[in-house]
Amino acid sequence: MRKLPRVLVVEDEPSIAELIAVNLRHNGFAPTVVFDGAAAQREIDAVLPDVILLDWMLPGESGAVLARQWRKHERTRTVPILMLTARSDESDKVQGLDAGADDYITKPFSTQELLARIRAVLRRRAPEIVNDSVQIGELSLDAATYRVSFRGKELKVGPTEFKLLHYLMKHAERVHTRGTLLDKIWGDHVFIEERTVDVHVKRLRESLGEAASMVETVRGAGYRLTALNHTGKSATSDTTPSA
Ligand code: CA
Repeated sequence: MRKLPRVLVVEDEPSIAELIAVNLRHNGFAPTVVFDGAAAQREIDAVLPDVILLDWMLPGESGAVLARQWRKHERTRTVPILMLTARSDESDKVQGLDAGADDYITKPFSTQELLARIRAVLRRRAPEIVNDSVQIGELSLDAATYRVSFRGKELKVGPTEFKLLHYLMKHAERVHTRGTLLDKIWGDHVFIEERTVDVHVKRLRESLGEAASMVETVRGAGYRLTALNHTGKSATSDTTPSA
């Protein structure tokens, strides 16, 4: 199953928050609604969102203050922030962007506008989670339809393995350390150990079947995805995970 982009909605007006959440849900996003900065922080500590919709005027700390804090912290530094405000004042826009927001949207806004802005910030900040497709040799992956196939035969790949494969295919023939993969795939490795990568690589190989050897272990360095040569084996293969 496809992993939906997680959207943290920080909005204190329940009717607006609910409207946004319903629209996001109907359009392939997984929204979580909170009403202030403290609740938003608790949510972020538990699960890092893919994008934050942040209202400007909130009880407690303002959206601008929160955006500034999140930009400073390692964990939230790269999470796209889309600022919402009731005011169309140009100075607010400048302040919002200065605080580290990626974009700015003025209420009232249409659902289409909101969705377009969310997709745009996700594409800019996290190209790995927006749709596209890639092909390496006879292995192809289509992120739009969430399909992986080898020699025309569709393969079943779990959500994390899919993301991992997507990243490896988009950056094929290069060696990626476990740390890099954690950063790029999990986006946040505060609670994840490096050997988690090995577990998912093992599962990915199992899913790939005949194409398993395309995912190489590079001893002492990490992993690499490489095209199979004409003998049907990867150029150099070492399936033993190294520390
Ligand atoms: Ca408000």
